[in-house]
Amino acid sequence: MSLTLTEARDRAAVVSDVSYDVDLDLTDTATFGVRTAVRFTVLPPTADTFLELAHGREVRVTVDGEDRDDGGYDGRRVPLTGLATGAHEVVVDARVPYVTDGDGMHTMTDPADGERYVGAYCGMDIAQKIFACFDQNDLKATIALTVTAPPAWTVLANGATLESADGHWRFATTLRIPPALFVVAAGPWASYRWEHAGLPFGWHARASLAAELDRDAAELRAITEGCYDHFAELFEEPYPFDSYDQVLVPGLNWGAQEMPGCVTYRDEYLPRGAVPEDLRLFRAAVIAHEMSHMWFGDLATMTWWEDTWLQESFADYMGYRVAADGAGFHGALLGHEVGRKPNAYDADRRRSTHPVAPEAEDVPDVDSAATIFDAISYSKGNSVLRQLVTWLGDETFLRGVNTYLTRFRFANATLDDFVAALDEASDRDVRSWVELWLRTTGFDTIRVERDEAGVPVLHRDGTRPHRIRVTAYDDGAREVGSELVDVADDPVPLPSYAGLAVVPNSHGETFARIVLDDASAAVVATGLCRVDDDLTRAVLWTMLFDRVQTRQLGPDEFVDLVARNLPGERSATMVSSVLNRTLGRVLPLRVPAAEAPAALATLASACSTGLEHATSPDLARAFASGYADTCDDPEPLLGWLASDAVGELPLAPALRWRAVRRLAALGALDAEAIAAEGARDAGSDGRVGVAAALAARPTAQAKADAWAVVSDPDVDNRLFTSAMEGLWSPGQADLLAPYVDRYLDEAPTWAARGQAFAQVVGRAFPALLLTEQQTDRLRTALEDDLPTVLRRQWEDRLDDLVG
Ligand SMILES: [Zn+2]
Repeated sequence: MSLTLTEARDRAAVVSDVSYDVDLDLTDTATFGVRTAVRFTVLPPTADTFLELAHGREVRVTVDGEDRDDGGYDGRRVPLTGLATGAHEVVVDARVPYVTDGDGMHTMTDPADGERYVGAYCGMDIAQKIFACFDQNDLKATIALTVTAPPAWTVLANGATLESADGHWRFATTLRIPPALFVVAAGPWASYRWEHAGLPFGWHARASLAAELDRDAAELRAITEGCYDHFAELFEEPYPFDSYDQVLVPGLNWGAQEMPGCVTYRDEYLPRGAVPEDLRLFRAAVIAHEMSHMWFGDLATMTWWEDTWLQESFADYMGYRVAADGAGFHGALLGHEVGRKPNAYDADRRRSTHPVAPEAEDVPDVDSAATIFDAISYSKGNSVLRQLVTWLGDETFLRGVNTYLTRFRFANATLDDFVAALDEASDRDVRSWVELWLRTTGFDTIRVERDEAGVPVLHRDGTRPHRIRVTAYDDGAREVGSELVDVADDPVPLPSYAGLAVVPNSHGETFARIVLDDASAAVVATGLCRVDDDLTRAVLWTMLFDRVQTRQLGPDEFVDLVARNLPGERSATMVSSVLNRTLGRVLPLRVPAAEAPAALATLASACSTGLEHATSPDLARAFASGYADTCDDPEPLLGWLASDAVGELPLAPALRWRAVRRLAALGALDAEAIAAEGARDAGSDGRVGVAAALAARPTAQAKADAWAVVSDPDVDNRLFTSAMEGLWSPGQADLLAPYVDRYLDEAPTWAARGQAFAQVVGRAFPALLLTEQQTDRLRTALEDDLPTVLRRQWEDRLDDLVG
């Protein structure tokens, strides 16, 4: 049971002026010690309230200097009863177990060198697993932190380091932040530090990744500084905090987290071997995204979780914009258009869709809030804000944003506060725009039709105004014209493009389904890879994803389109995104098990052609990766392993493990050979690589062994995910049938570990097209009492399956 909206409102009405002194002791390996002194004011009329503290042991509570034993602690909350109006101090001492699922004080021992790392990567309902607190966003507080850790460690936290000696660390007291944005990252980090604009900066990673940090340090620093300087131009409020550390941490359940002054990233963003192009571009956008949160979310914070969009949609929009304008990563937006926006269209078709800005009452507790961090709040919100900027003009948009940030600095805000600031900045009808775009669900359709003279005419089915680019092509898919048009209630004829193919929304300016007329569709079907503009090809691929998901296009036709157009594709990011989508969604949602091998063979042949003709190492890596996922002939992959290369290209560890997993799934590598691969690469990549490969083997015993790994109640989040990925290997439907049932039976118990692990469990849904009988089993399972996060993911899966 998580905190409810009602409880949060009641508590915010009686508690104010909160500050924390937190003392952590990380020297023991089974539990950590924490002493929290909470000072706060109780407002009239007084009422009973509580602090949260999850999984505390040996709890001791002192209220205003008076020993209260365990204070009535129930394993979840410390009740605060009978407090008079005025100032109080409550001290809570406890020991708390570490976790291995990222949902608390996470501990990880690096298999590469035996070094231990621990970290509190907070977020929803996690701060209370670290220290006793009023765990809600609108009770912002200053936090003074000390940490005792093994002497060889570096400890990083929100505030700048004031003192460190013999494993004792003291940090500058933070400005007013929500408990959810608290962070500690401790271990023998490799660090790269410098100063810029008078502020200390640092990038940090596990000691075993020191060479990779060194390799990328110049790029990571350049992106950081470029974004920092660009934000200084966009925003009137100066950077609010006293330092800017960025830590690549193990086991993070999110891509990254915007902790004030100390951002965390999953350390998969620092891979060994060449960094694939799509990851390099995405990483730049994430760095900019997290930095924008220093203003959107950290300086001005949502009051309750319905306004998640006020943080995530903005950060997502700013991330791509500033990665391009500030750091020069202009290609990053392509990844949004082809890799992430399609997820938002999927999300917006499901029963679980919600307005970008929902009502507070539609998010009744923190467990439901955990389901809002979805493609609607990120990718749709980003796209909608892009449309807002197109519609409003950039200067007006930024004027409104700056008013909002200054007005709510170190405070909390809601949708209404943001709209009021925007409204003051503009003479356009901002409030109607917000109602149409932010308060509704679903999306419009923009259709191309032809009149008798062959003139293309744009029609909008829906309610929203759109300002979009339309691009015209000749029969050879060569661009011959392009212009911005407004599409609303009335059809828009384009007489200058008579007889030509046209693509509306050609740079992805809006969020709408695109339906082409037959003539334009024919040009696309044969000439997609010849369309010159990357963004336009992304929009066209997205249109095809929509058509196959909504059953306008058969999966076999879709796979043929991929096979025809992908080998000629020039962007590595597009190749990876199209393949990810095809393998991750089209196959398991639309292709019956019996037809999967033929689809895989078609894709393997397309990847092989692409690899043969690849004009850059990035393209070659993208096609090689797709080939490793799909080929059914072990010989070429065994050749890669033997030469540790793909032709001229060195085999990066991630690609080698992909090949190993596929070989294992084909029955071409036994346990001994997999163990030898593990011995060759003894770090954390090897550990999860071995687990995935062992689970992929096509035998009943291998599947049973994999099941024992994932059902261990202490399994860590990364091992769980890799073993599941291996388990659900394509082409093994008969072998996997019993495990579809077992997953539906056992996943609810696993998901009870916490919101974050429930996400991990939900994402491990069987990656094969369910039979009708299995789909009925899913329906029946949904009738049971399920953890909120898991229910949401299962309902989404069912909607995607039958939709
Ligand atoms: Zn974010």
